[in-house]
Amino acid sequence: MVYHKTTSEIDLCRESSLLVCKTLAELAAHIKPGVTTLHLDKIGHDFIFDHGAVPGFLNYQGFPYSLCISVNDAVVHGFPSEDELKEGDIVSIDCGVLMNEFYGDSAYTYAVGEIEPEIEKLMKVTRECLDLGIEQAVVGKRIGDISYAVQNHAEKVNGYGVVRELTGHGVGKSLHEKPEVPNFGKRGRGSKLKEGLVIAIEPMINLGKREVIKMDDGWTIVTKDGKPSAHFEKIVVVRKGQAESLVDFTMIEEAVEKNRELSASY
Ligand code: MG
Ligand code: MG
Repeated sequence: MVYHKTTSEIDLCRESSLLVCKTLAELAAHIKPGVTTLHLDKIGHDFIFDHGAVPGFLNYQGFPYSLCISVNDAVVHGFPSEDELKEGDIVSIDCGVLMNEFYGDSAYTYAVGEIEPEIEKLMKVTRECLDLGIEQAVVGKRIGDISYAVQNHAEKVNGYGVVRELTGHGVGKSLHEKPEVPNFGKRGRGSKLKEGLVIAIEPMINLGKREVIKMDDGWTIVTKDGKPSAHFEKIVVVRKGQAESLVDFTMIEEAVEKNRELSASY
């Protein structure tokens, strides 16, 4: 069953998404060498509760933390841990909130200090994949048009690996609703996009090959070849002519920039 949301439902989705952005911006200030990802999880957890919401991932199908924090070769669903971030790492934080019965769900990949140029390019291209996917989220197009746009830019244009096992998704009163939004596919295939469909588009792009494996913790997905992976996610509403993004990364980017300036001044 695919839900097309009413204006008031979309307003609630927008509020939840805004809190996710604020949380990801709050976290940006704390990302530096020496910080543990468990500490980041606690900051996110407290921030979300302080704003009258519940962490969307906490206890979701048994997930034991508030945030999914995936470092370097971890693709998604990483467990926060006592491991410290170090200079040159990249860390993807996937954040969900549940507020007023509606979920927000977005992810951002942060650099820890200075990173290798090839990893910086991976992050940039993954962002571009997200933007290209969003461009296709308009009335009359199909899911496959989004999928193709992401895959083409990652694989054909840049030679990266596109993760097949995990996908974007509808989102609303459930964290994962239909339809699935794969990051690979063919143009003109899949279900037709209609006004008011709310979907999470979330490319997971590997520097190396596309194959992934699940760790013994039952959750963390890592690249099989051990190379880094980047992940960005936004929730958008399908509209005529141009998708409406419920997620604005501007406040996260400003926080990242401020954090960079502060650490450079030490
Ligand atoms: Mg997510
Ligand atoms: Mg998602």
